[in-house]
Amino acid sequence: FENLKNTDVEIYESIQREIGRQHRNLELIASENVVSMSVLEAMGSQLTNKYAEGYPAKRYYGGCEFVDEAETLAIERLKKLFNADHANVQPHSGSNANLGVYFAVLEPGDKIMGMNLSEGGHLTHGSPVNISGKYFEIVPYGVDPETEVIDYEKVREIAVKEKPKMIVAGASAYARKIDFAKFKEIADEVGAYLMVDMAHIAGLIAAGLHQNPVEYADFVTTTTHKTLRGPRGGAILCKEKYAKAVDKAIFPGIQGGPLMHVIAAKAVCFKEALEDDFKEYQNQVVKNAAELAVQLKKKGFRLVSDGTDNHLILLDMRSKDVTGKEAEKILGDINITVNKNTIPNDPKSPFVTSGIRIGTPAITTIGLVEKDMAEIADIMNCAFTQSQDKETLIKRVEALMSVYE
Ligand code: PLP
Repeated sequence: FENLKNTDVEIYESIQREIGRQHRNLELIASENVVSMSVLEAMGSQLTNKYAEGYPAKRYYGGCEFVDEAETLAIERLKKLFNADHANVQPHSGSNANLGVYFAVLEPGDKIMGMNLSEGGHLTHGSPVNISGKYFEIVPYGVDPETEVIDYEKVREIAVKEKPKMIVAGASAYARKIDFAKFKEIADEVGAYLMVDMAHIAGLIAAGLHQNPVEYADFVTTTTHKTLRGPRGGAILCKEKYAKAVDKAIFPGIQGGPLMHVIAAKAVCFKEALEDDFKEYQNQVVKNAAELAVQLKKKGFRLVSDGTDNHLILLDMRSKDVTGKEAEKILGDINITVNKNTIPNDPKSPFVTSGIRIGTPAITTIGLVEKDMAEIADIMNCAFTQSQDKETLIKRVEALMSVYE
């Protein structure tokens, strides 16, 4: 950062403080990760200088021969990773990937069935404050109030009654496996498109630890920065018959010039995800989450759906007599970063909430393993029971973080 230090010391110092925070804080936000230096280098490269509207070999600008190489590599690697017919690596974000699919095959006013935001879904699956909820008619589905897992029979009932044009499967705060084959059966029964948003679990799927939605869905969207451990961004996979519609929807439909430096970094991430040690990493992510769930339960935390099958855990903080907002602050004060999150049938508003969402992708990348999970659960418990002072707990977090070079 030598140049930056000389020309813009304010931004340089903000970045340094953020790097310091990332090395000091135990990162339990389920949607975050720590990318490799190779991903960072590609993202910080001169490819940011290039305009490349269009697609490889079909650009609206000259001088695209080398960015074409990078985008083609990203596309081919992503297709291989998930065994897909077609890939579009240009969405600037997961939200844009979802909007791109809607724009490709839906008309304003069409009916979409998506998982309720308050029960685990994402804003872009039909929340009234999002464009998806404003431009489409939304029929939400949720989880069973008793088991807190998706009740597929109920999903089927709603679909049969409402006849949506598209069903969206996938979630931001759902700790259990999702049965995409079942969703496909339901979508076929009512003649709906099936879109799977695999943003949270893409890394697990790439490693073969979760059913691959590409086998079932018409469209699969993802972010590249969560379990997949790449740059911030999105991507769409689809069957060949939708390739043209999807590409047109992203450009010129909802985006202009692609971010070629980010696309190059996506290519690097996909190459990393194709390697054997990525499978080991994802295995460890899941093992850590399972062990953390066991240890948290031992300490009296209530887990929504009573456990986890993936990288995340949703905690009902009423079991520790605090709101989600208070829990986020209490943990933040001892250098543990989490986010407050609504839980199914949450009596509190989304600004307060009754839950927090935690996950193991980032702590696994820095090198924490199962034996560290009991320590994390105990530190969290001590923070809520106030059985140890803040300074002691900060020291214990610091000891855990010493694995991160
Ligand atoms: N889809 C799901 C399931 C997500 O959890 C998220 C992000 O939280 C997104 C889409 C949106 O991704 P982005 O923040 O890149 O727009």
